[in-house]
Amino acid sequence: MFDKIVIANRGEIALRILRCCKEMGIGTVAVHSSADRDLKHVRLADESVCIGPPASADSYLNVPAIISAAEVTDAMAIHPGYGFLAENADFAERVEQSGFAFIGPRPETIRLMGDKVSAIESMKASGVPCVPGSDGPLGDDPETNIKLARKIGYPIIIKAAAGGGGRGMRVVHSEAALLNAISLTRAEAQAAFSSDVVYLEKFLENPRHIEIQVLADQHGNAIHLAERDCSMQRRHQKVVEEAPAPGITPEIRAKIGGRCAEACRKIGYRGAGTFEFLYEDGEFYFIEMNTRIQVEHPVTEMITGVDLVKEQIRIAANEKLSHTQDEIIVRGHAFECRLNAEDPETFMPSPGTISQFHSPGGLGVRVDSHIYNGYCVPPYYDSMIGKLIVHGDSRETAMARMRTALSECVIEGIKTNIPLHQDIFSDAAFQAGGANIHYLEKKLGL
Ligand code: ADP
Repeated sequence: MFDKIVIANRGEIALRILRCCKEMGIGTVAVHSSADRDLKHVRLADESVCIGPPASADSYLNVPAIISAAEVTDAMAIHPGYGFLAENADFAERVEQSGFAFIGPRPETIRLMGDKVSAIESMKASGVPCVPGSDGPLGDDPETNIKLARKIGYPIIIKAAAGGGGRGMRVVHSEAALLNAISLTRAEAQAAFSSDVVYLEKFLENPRHIEIQVLADQHGNAIHLAERDCSMQRRHQKVVEEAPAPGITPEIRAKIGGRCAEACRKIGYRGAGTFEFLYEDGEFYFIEMNTRIQVEHPVTEMITGVDLVKEQIRIAANEKLSHTQDEIIVRGHAFECRLNAEDPETFMPSPGTISQFHSPGGLGVRVDSHIYNGYCVPPYYDSMIGKLIVHGDSRETAMARMRTALSECVIEGIKTNIPLHQDIFSDAAFQAGGANIHYLEKKLGL
């Protein structure tokens, strides 16, 4: 096992990783920007290294600075968390070439999954159901593209192979708009992602977002840890997540989860990962794979009892998975609310000093957050300041528990989206379960 790990991230996920390392008896190095000296995990880490000024490009994305921090502290591995460099294949490669373990998949896998066209191709070949589409990049011949779209049937969506973060996509409702939309998406993709490769797929009108968590070790073992429903979204950003997904039976779970685990074995996947699907009329359609730990991983931990970050570290250290598929049992129900420093109505970021913080608590309540009384939320990074997670033996119990936890949570000095969460948890359609990805925006009148 590693004796020291560099945590190449900030905020709640850095604290989450630090807590796990402490439990495992692993030393910790916090690398942080000059704006983040007061982060909770920086105070708690065994060692800390300032890697640059506030701007992420100069600090959390500063590859040479992070690698030298690992060198000077004599660390053995680097955990990238999520965001920043977590899905950067070049970074993973540099880490390994410098003699450190990268706590994540092999660089080739990150590269394969980072390109949506190659990701879909490899998933199809592994038996994972995908959205009907162009089966590869679109060519330049207008006639061929028109025929292809006609065969798939409108509406269709044009997507950049290198796209991400909800950008580089365009929905087309009629043949008249097709060719223009293809050239626009190509130009945008070239500008944003330095690649004009685009592809086309059927646009699903009212899907839910359901994703499967997987773990795979370097000894050929791969398992799935059930699904999460992340359909409550605003601008493609998840707001509330839950596990398991309402209406997904053990049989359906075993089938789709089994396909994902099998795909991991086929591509030689390593580490934790998520297969994201759109789910409509009882069918799953693969859209992309995330090759990292996700923000919403705690809901899976709550229903399975598996520490996903610990498994990531064990896998990177070449240990075998702690559990077989048969040992993964779904117990009860969990919800997660992403707490953001933002205006609950305008969604404008609300950085500043937290004058009062009272954390909720009690049976089945988990708070993954780095905030404390007097902590100043810097304006430079993502506005998420933590996650409120609850677990209960049924969906109803978990929901009631979340309502209580939200009512107990006091964060003063900045604005937060707690009122939005309270609104969601008192909404009849959300309570019923199974709302689609457009539901929240429609409810908000967006
Ligand atoms: P990104 O990498 O930018 O997050 P995704 O491929 O995961 O892109 O898609 C982001 C979101 O766009 C999905 O969660 C969904 O809301 C919407 N979307 C993508 N593909 C389709 C599709 N074929 N039909 C309907 N909606 C889609």
